[in-house]
Amino acid sequence: MRKNIVAGNWKMHKNQHETVALLQEIIAQKKTSTTEIIVAPTFVNLAKAVEITNGSEINVAAQNTHQAEGGAFTGEISAGMLTDIGVTTVILGHSERRAYFHETDALIANKVDTALKHNMRVIFCFGEELKDRQINNHFNVVEYQLRDGLFHLEKADWRNIVLAYEPVWAIGTGETASPDQAQEMHKFIRELVEKVYGFDIANELSILYGGSVKPDNAKEIFSKPDVDGGLIGGAALNANDFLAIVQGF
Ligand code: PGA
Repeated sequence: MRKNIVAGNWKMHKNQHETVALLQEIIAQKKTSTTEIIVAPTFVNLAKAVEITNGSEINVAAQNTHQAEGGAFTGEISAGMLTDIGVTTVILGHSERRAYFHETDALIANKVDTALKHNMRVIFCFGEELKDRQINNHFNVVEYQLRDGLFHLEKADWRNIVLAYEPVWAIGTGETASPDQAQEMHKFIRELVEKVYGFDIANELSILYGGSVKPDNAKEIFSKPDVDGGLIGGAALNANDFLAIVQGF
């Protein structure tokens, strides 16, 4: 049985005081569920988040890492530094990293390799832009992002891969893919992984949907057979909304 996951991508929000407050609210209000909860605060608040969530069954993820092991890369954070403070999950390839920080598929593939080398779990983000969908090229775009970012991996690496399909036109826009559009793409993705890596890996793979998931649309999106959870931006910044989304399963 593959795992259901709801992950909150806090982006560049919440200072340390606010990080602590939000985590305490989430921990206090969280109901027991089989859905894994992940939170991804900013780098400077990761150590604090690890400390606060200790024993709570909430996992902490980083929003990025550098591809090098270390060295003269001013302002960067390595995978080894993350695991050293107890962060073993990392979000890579988010569309904001691709768009604003010019991360290419090849660079993201390098980051994936470095993270896996450190035994980290990777939440690999990808998804088409509106212009791709308008000309019916969205399946192609997604296929190439997966091929270039992940299809060099060995079978065993997939134990540490979670996919997050995030159509760029739905991120932070209030516009969501319909549950049927999400299911159609998630099914395509799972079949693609199956073609390359076989049924078992595809069947075990958690594929999250991201893009304006809110308490009022989560349940229907999560009810689709190939949607195994969500990567949540805006709605993850409020404990009630975030936990209502978790309850969507
Ligand atoms: P959103 O962001 O939920 O605010 O659309 C999702 C994401 O960027 O992961």
